[in-house]
Amino acid sequence: MPLLQISGIRKRFGGLLAVNGAGMDVADGELLGLIGPNGSGKTTLLNVLSGHLEADAGEVRLDGRSVLGQGPTRLTRLGVLRMFQMTRVFNRVSAYDNLVVCGLALGLDEAGASRRALELLEELKLGHVMHLDAGQLSGGQKKLLEFGACFMVPPRVALLDEPFAAVHPVMKETMSAFIRRRNQDGQTFILVSHDMPVVVDLCPRSVCMNAGRVLADGPTQQVLREPAVIEAYLGEAQHEERDHG
Ligand code: ADP
Ligand code: MG
Repeated sequence: MPLLQISGIRKRFGGLLAVNGAGMDVADGELLGLIGPNGSGKTTLLNVLSGHLEADAGEVRLDGRSVLGQGPTRLTRLGVLRMFQMTRVFNRVSAYDNLVVCGLALGLDEAGASRRALELLEELKLGHVMHLDAGQLSGGQKKLLEFGACFMVPPRVALLDEPFAAVHPVMKETMSAFIRRRNQDGQTFILVSHDMPVVVDLCPRSVCMNAGRVLADGPTQQVLREPAVIEAYLGEAQHEERDHG
Protein backbone atom coordinates (compact mmCIF):
# COMPACT_ATOMS: atom_id res chain seq x y z
CA MET A 1 0.00 0.00 0.00
CA PRO A 2 1.34 3.49 -0.81
CA LEU A 3 2.34 5.57 2.19
CA LEU A 4 0.29 8.49 0.88
CA GLN A 5 -2.71 8.23 -1.39
CA ILE A 6 -3.80 11.62 -2.65
CA SER A 7 -6.86 11.83 -4.87
CA GLY A 8 -9.16 14.42 -6.38
CA ILE A 9 -7.92 17.35 -4.30
CA ARG A 10 -9.66 20.63 -5.04
CA LYS A 11 -8.98 23.97 -3.43
CA ARG A 12 -10.68 27.16 -4.49
CA PHE A 13 -9.63 30.71 -3.60
CA GLY A 14 -12.62 32.85 -4.56
CA GLY A 15 -12.97 32.41 -8.29
CA LEU A 16 -9.65 30.64 -8.71
CA LEU A 17 -9.31 26.86 -8.61
CA ALA A 18 -5.74 26.65 -7.30
CA VAL A 19 -5.88 22.86 -7.11
CA ASN A 20 -8.33 21.23 -9.43
CA GLY A 21 -8.56 17.50 -8.90
CA ALA A 22 -4.89 16.68 -8.34
CA GLY A 23 -3.93 13.23 -7.13
CA MET A 24 -0.91 10.96 -6.79
CA ASP A 25 0.38 8.07 -4.74
CA VAL A 26 3.63 8.27 -2.82
CA ALA A 27 5.36 5.05 -1.87
CA ASP A 28 7.09 4.51 1.43
CA GLY A 29 10.72 5.51 0.99
CA GLU A 30 10.14 7.44 -2.21
CA LEU A 31 11.74 10.79 -3.08
CA LEU A 32 9.08 12.31 -5.31
CA GLY A 33 9.67 15.51 -7.26
CA LEU A 34 6.74 17.91 -7.56
CA ILE A 35 7.30 20.38 -10.35
CA GLY A 36 5.31 22.78 -12.51
CA PRO A 37 5.27 26.42 -13.53
CA ASN A 38 4.61 29.20 -11.03
CA GLY A 39 1.05 29.24 -9.81
CA SER A 40 0.34 25.64 -10.77
CA GLY A 41 -0.84 24.76 -7.25
CA LYS A 42 2.19 22.98 -5.74
CA THR A 43 2.35 25.03 -2.54
CA THR A 44 -1.42 24.88 -2.12
CA LEU A 45 -1.34 21.11 -2.46
CA LEU A 46 1.42 20.83 0.16
CA ASN A 47 -0.65 23.07 2.45
CA VAL A 48 -3.59 20.72 2.08
CA LEU A 49 -1.39 17.69 2.79
CA SER A 50 0.06 19.29 5.92
CA GLY A 51 -3.34 20.48 7.15
CA HIS A 52 -2.51 24.18 6.84
CA LEU A 53 -5.35 24.58 4.34
CA GLU A 54 -8.67 22.79 4.19
CA ALA A 55 -9.45 21.22 0.82
CA ASP A 56 -12.86 21.67 -0.77
CA ALA A 57 -12.87 18.10 -2.03
CA GLY A 58 -10.69 15.03 -2.34
CA GLU A 59 -9.05 12.48 -0.14
CA VAL A 60 -5.68 12.00 1.51
CA ARG A 61 -4.80 8.65 3.07
CA LEU A 62 -1.75 8.02 5.18
CA ASP A 63 -1.09 4.30 5.58
CA GLY A 64 -4.61 3.77 4.28
CA ARG A 65 -6.26 6.00 6.90
CA SER A 66 -8.06 9.14 5.86
CA VAL A 67 -6.30 12.20 7.26
CA LEU A 68 -7.93 14.97 5.21
CA GLY A 69 -9.31 17.74 7.38
CA GLN A 70 -6.94 17.10 10.30
CA GLY A 71 -5.09 20.17 11.49
CA PRO A 72 -1.34 20.71 11.18
CA THR A 73 -0.66 19.81 14.83
CA ARG A 74 -2.30 16.44 14.47
CA LEU A 75 -0.68 15.79 11.09
CA THR A 76 2.74 16.67 12.49
CA ARG A 77 2.16 14.05 15.18
CA LEU A 78 1.17 11.55 12.51
CA GLY A 79 4.45 12.36 10.77
CA VAL A 80 3.45 14.65 7.91
CA LEU A 81 5.92 17.50 8.19
CA ARG A 82 6.17 20.56 6.04
CA MET A 83 8.99 22.95 5.30
CA PHE A 84 7.76 26.36 4.18
CA GLN A 85 8.86 28.35 1.17
CA MET A 86 9.33 31.23 3.63
CA THR A 87 11.74 30.54 6.45
CA ARG A 88 10.22 30.24 9.91
CA VAL A 89 12.65 30.12 12.83
CA PHE A 90 12.71 31.80 16.24
CA ASN A 91 15.10 34.69 15.60
CA ARG A 92 15.92 35.51 19.22
CA VAL A 93 16.76 31.96 20.23
CA SER A 94 20.03 30.19 19.42
CA ALA A 95 20.24 27.83 16.48
CA TYR A 96 20.80 24.95 18.90
CA ASP A 97 17.80 25.91 21.05
CA ASN A 98 15.61 26.26 17.97
CA LEU A 99 16.22 22.58 17.28
CA VAL A 100 15.94 21.47 20.91
CA VAL A 101 12.60 23.24 21.36
CA CYS A 102 11.36 21.62 18.21
CA GLY A 103 12.47 18.19 19.44
CA LEU A 104 10.78 18.70 22.82
CA ALA A 105 7.57 19.74 21.07
CA LEU A 106 7.73 16.53 19.07
CA GLY A 107 8.02 14.45 22.23
CA LEU A 108 11.77 13.89 22.68
CA ASP A 109 13.24 14.14 26.17
CA GLU A 110 15.87 16.78 26.81
CA ALA A 111 18.87 14.50 26.42
CA GLY A 112 17.46 13.00 23.24
CA ALA A 113 16.63 16.42 21.82
CA SER A 114 20.10 17.71 22.63
CA ARG A 115 21.78 14.72 21.00
CA ARG A 116 19.70 14.97 17.83
CA ALA A 117 20.22 18.74 17.64
CA LEU A 118 24.00 18.37 17.84
CA GLU A 119 24.01 15.62 15.20
CA LEU A 120 21.91 17.70 12.84
CA LEU A 121 23.91 20.89 13.37
CA GLU A 122 27.05 18.92 12.53
CA GLU A 123 25.52 17.25 9.50
CA LEU A 124 24.17 20.56 8.17
CA LYS A 125 27.50 22.31 8.81
CA LEU A 126 25.97 24.73 11.32
CA GLY A 127 28.14 23.63 14.25
CA HIS A 128 30.15 26.85 14.25
CA VAL A 129 27.03 29.04 14.54
CA MET A 130 24.97 26.86 16.87
CA HIS A 131 25.14 29.32 19.78
CA LEU A 132 24.29 32.41 17.73
CA ASP A 133 20.72 33.68 17.76
CA ALA A 134 18.98 32.36 14.68
CA GLY A 135 18.32 36.00 13.73
CA GLN A 136 22.06 36.46 13.19
CA LEU A 137 22.34 33.61 10.70
CA SER A 138 22.42 34.19 6.96
CA GLY A 139 19.26 33.47 4.99
CA GLY A 140 20.74 30.21 3.78
CA GLN A 141 21.80 29.14 7.26
CA LYS A 142 18.30 29.89 8.55
CA LYS A 143 16.91 27.76 5.81
CA LEU A 144 19.26 24.92 6.76
CA LEU A 145 18.17 25.33 10.37
CA GLU A 146 14.50 25.15 9.53
CA PHE A 147 15.27 22.21 7.32
CA GLY A 148 17.05 20.47 10.20
CA ALA A 149 14.08 21.10 12.47
CA CYS A 150 11.97 18.90 10.17
CA PHE A 151 14.23 15.95 11.00
CA MET A 152 14.52 16.22 14.79
CA VAL A 153 12.07 13.35 14.78
CA PRO A 154 12.22 11.73 11.34
CA PRO A 155 8.75 12.26 9.84
CA ARG A 156 6.81 9.64 7.88
CA VAL A 157 6.91 12.06 4.97
CA ALA A 158 8.80 15.35 4.64
CA LEU A 159 7.19 17.99 2.42
CA LEU A 160 9.83 20.40 1.16
CA ASP A 161 8.69 23.57 -0.63
CA GLU A 162 11.50 25.10 -2.69
CA PRO A 163 14.18 24.33 -0.10
CA PHE A 164 16.97 25.47 -2.45
CA ALA A 165 15.45 28.82 -3.45
CA ALA A 166 17.90 31.66 -2.82
CA VAL A 167 20.30 29.33 -1.00
CA HIS A 168 24.04 29.60 -1.63
CA PRO A 169 25.29 26.77 -3.89
CA VAL A 170 27.47 25.35 -1.11
CA MET A 171 24.47 25.11 1.22
CA LYS A 172 22.34 23.78 -1.56
CA GLU A 173 24.87 20.98 -1.93
CA THR A 174 24.76 20.32 1.83
CA MET A 175 20.99 20.16 1.71
CA SER A 176 20.73 17.94 -1.33
CA ALA A 177 23.38 15.57 0.05
CA PHE A 178 21.35 15.40 3.27
CA ILE A 179 18.14 14.62 1.35
CA ARG A 180 19.89 11.92 -0.64
CA ARG A 181 21.39 10.29 2.47
CA ARG A 182 18.11 10.34 4.38
CA ASN A 183 16.27 8.93 1.42
CA GLN A 184 18.81 6.12 1.13
CA ASP A 185 17.97 5.38 4.78
CA GLY A 186 14.29 5.14 3.86
CA GLN A 187 13.01 8.68 4.48
CA THR A 188 10.06 9.59 2.25
CA PHE A 189 10.02 13.04 0.64
CA ILE A 190 7.92 15.22 -1.61
CA LEU A 191 10.28 17.82 -3.01
CA VAL A 192 8.93 20.94 -4.72
CA SER A 193 11.69 22.64 -6.66
CA HIS A 194 12.26 24.75 -9.72
CA ASP A 195 15.85 23.55 -9.82
CA MET A 196 15.53 20.97 -12.58
CA PRO A 197 19.11 19.66 -12.43
CA VAL A 198 18.64 18.90 -8.72
CA VAL A 199 15.23 17.32 -9.30
CA VAL A 200 16.66 15.16 -12.08
CA ASP A 201 19.58 14.23 -9.86
CA LEU A 202 17.58 13.45 -6.71
CA CYS A 203 14.13 12.29 -7.78
CA PRO A 204 13.65 9.09 -9.76
CA ARG A 205 9.99 10.01 -10.24
CA SER A 206 8.27 13.37 -10.62
CA VAL A 207 4.78 14.74 -10.88
CA CYS A 208 4.29 17.88 -12.96
CA MET A 209 1.32 20.10 -12.12
CA ASN A 210 -0.23 22.79 -14.24
CA ALA A 211 -3.31 24.88 -13.43
CA GLY A 212 -4.07 22.75 -10.40
CA ARG A 213 -4.02 19.44 -12.23
CA VAL A 214 -1.47 16.68 -12.66
CA LEU A 215 -0.07 17.05 -16.15
CA ALA A 216 2.41 14.18 -16.03
CA ASP A 217 3.56 11.56 -13.52
CA GLY A 218 6.43 9.18 -14.12
CA PRO A 219 10.21 8.85 -14.36
CA THR A 220 11.59 12.39 -14.04
CA GLN A 221 13.49 12.44 -17.35
CA GLN A 222 10.41 11.18 -19.16
CA VAL A 223 8.12 13.74 -17.49
CA LEU A 224 10.44 16.57 -18.48
CA ARG A 225 10.36 15.43 -22.10
CA GLU A 226 6.56 15.30 -22.34
CA PRO A 227 5.30 17.88 -24.84
CA ALA A 228 2.52 19.05 -22.49
CA VAL A 229 5.11 19.71 -19.76
CA ILE A 230 7.40 21.62 -22.11
CA GLU A 231 4.43 23.63 -23.30
CA ALA A 232 3.38 24.48 -19.73
CA TYR A 233 6.86 25.81 -18.95
CA LEU A 234 7.02 27.73 -22.23
CA GLY A 235 3.70 29.31 -21.31
CA GLU A 236 5.26 30.43 -18.05
CA ALA A 237 8.26 31.93 -19.87
CA GLN A 238 5.93 33.84 -22.18
CA HIS A 239 3.99 35.21 -19.19
CA GLU A 240 7.25 36.34 -17.65
CA GLU A 241 8.33 38.07 -20.83
CA ARG A 242 5.01 39.86 -20.94
CA ASP A 243 5.23 40.83 -17.27
CA HIS A 244 8.83 42.02 -17.33
CA GLY A 245 9.39 43.36 -20.75
P1 ADP B 1 2.84 27.22 -6.91
O1 ADP B 1 3.35 26.84 -5.54
O2 ADP B 1 2.79 26.06 -7.86
O3 ADP B 1 3.60 28.36 -7.50
P2 ADP B 1 0.46 28.10 -5.50
O4 ADP B 1 -0.13 26.89 -4.89
O5 ADP B 1 1.24 28.99 -4.61
O6 ADP B 1 1.33 27.68 -6.78
O7 ADP B 1 -0.67 28.98 -6.15
C1 ADP B 1 -1.66 28.44 -7.02
C2 ADP B 1 -2.63 29.56 -7.38
O8 ADP B 1 -3.39 29.90 -6.23
C3 ADP B 1 -1.94 30.85 -7.81
O9 ADP B 1 -2.71 31.42 -8.83
C4 ADP B 1 -1.96 31.69 -6.57
O10 ADP B 1 -1.95 33.06 -6.89
C5 ADP B 1 -3.24 31.26 -5.90
N1 ADP B 1 -3.19 31.35 -4.42
C6 ADP B 1 -2.34 30.70 -3.61
N2 ADP B 1 -2.60 30.96 -2.31
C7 ADP B 1 -3.66 31.80 -2.30
C8 ADP B 1 -4.42 32.45 -1.27
N3 ADP B 1 -4.14 32.25 0.02
N4 ADP B 1 -5.44 33.26 -1.65
C9 ADP B 1 -5.73 33.45 -2.94
N5 ADP B 1 -5.07 32.87 -3.97
C10 ADP B 1 -4.05 32.06 -3.66
MG1 MG C 1 5.00 27.58 -4.41
